[in-house]
Amino acid sequence: MKDIFEFADELGPTKVLHVYEPMVGLKGVLVVDNVALGPSIGGIRMAPDVSAVECFRLARAMSLKNAAAGLSHGGGKAVLYGDPKLPLEKKEVLIRALAASLRDIHEYILAPDMGTDEQCMAWIKDEIGRVVGLPREIGGIPLDEIGATAWGLLHATEIAVQYLDFELPGARVVIQGFGSVGKHAARFFAEKGVVLVGTADSKGAIYDPSGLDVRCLVELKEGGKSVVDYPGATRLGHEAIIDFDCDIWIPAARPDVINEVNVDRLKAKLVVPGANIAVTDGAEKHLHDKGVLCLPDFIANAGGVICAAMEYRGANETAVFQAIEEKVRYNTRRILDISKERGILPKRAAVEFAVDRIKRAMSYRRWSVF
Ligand code: NAD
Repeated sequence: MKDIFEFADELGPTKVLHVYEPMVGLKGVLVVDNVALGPSIGGIRMAPDVSAVECFRLARAMSLKNAAAGLSHGGGKAVLYGDPKLPLEKKEVLIRALAASLRDIHEYILAPDMGTDEQCMAWIKDEIGRVVGLPREIGGIPLDEIGATAWGLLHATEIAVQYLDFELPGARVVIQGFGSVGKHAARFFAEKGVVLVGTADSKGAIYDPSGLDVRCLVELKEGGKSVVDYPGATRLGHEAIIDFDCDIWIPAARPDVINEVNVDRLKAKLVVPGANIAVTDGAEKHLHDKGVLCLPDFIANAGGVICAAMEYRGANETAVFQAIEEKVRYNTRRILDISKERGILPKRAAVEFAVDRIKRAMSYRRWSVF
């Protein structure tokens, strides 16, 4: 990044904060994008290779996601440099230090993302109070444990297949990433008769055209193992997953995994992003031109933040599942109809829809983005 304002446009970001405490090795970045709709919600991503640029892009994705989902929250994101598998006592120090450094940034409500979980949110609650994604015992609706995002992915997919030439039962799915989003997606899809033919985690990919046993994979992961320990499947490097033959391809790991370089290798008819910004703009256009339907990430994967926003207001789990189902189905249909009528990319239809809502909220305020 040449200049910190490189990402600034009419929507934001309104605040960018570098947080640093050498005493405990804390290095982080907070980006608060646009808060015209209300205080921002967005998860804390912990990984050794996060970056300020990733943080900017994810904060914007949250502004669009929260607006499209009709939530009274803007978008923000925090990244924390470090290994999420650190010994717990060391991780706790870092998470508490990050929380303390953000104590007075009231435009940002802390939440979990890759590398952070409800245990981390509980430390933050204890430290500063302003957090969602808490464990049940202290009033939370643990969005990763219940599979909130994956529940939305299933409903987005059920609508999307109505615009395509195949049905969900018997369809073949590939899921990249078998963490909170990936494993619950595998579970929900299997309940609808979808066959998981390939998956991957950071250790590698596995493929079996006759179908993988989802329960066995979940047990392996919960026992601290990798999907590559699955008995009998063909084991490959994690890059190979893009080549797996399937009907539905679900990215549920990192950004930019389908890009201009590898997009031609993808064999699916439908891409349903669990991960944020998983498909580059160029790749998305290429897929559209080839007749492959790629759902906008922030429409399909809004389940987690819908859950978080409802937890903040004291809702219960049943209401959360119902709201995710209703909002994601409605938005997916609406975006696909607009895309079809106007012959535009689903992503463009979704961005216009979200930005319109943000701009209307901005028009009621004295200052536009904060
Ligand atoms: P997680 O940390 O629980 O799981 C991530 C998974 O991806 C792990 O299995 C990891 O091994 C795997 N992975 C990492 N690098 C990989 C690679 N190069 N190839 C294949 N697999 C790889 O994270 P999560 O909560 O499941 O989130 C996954 C993605 O979905 C993230 O991009 C996150 O921002 C996005 N997302 C999550 C939620 C949510 O509710 N958790 C909501 C919206 C979006």
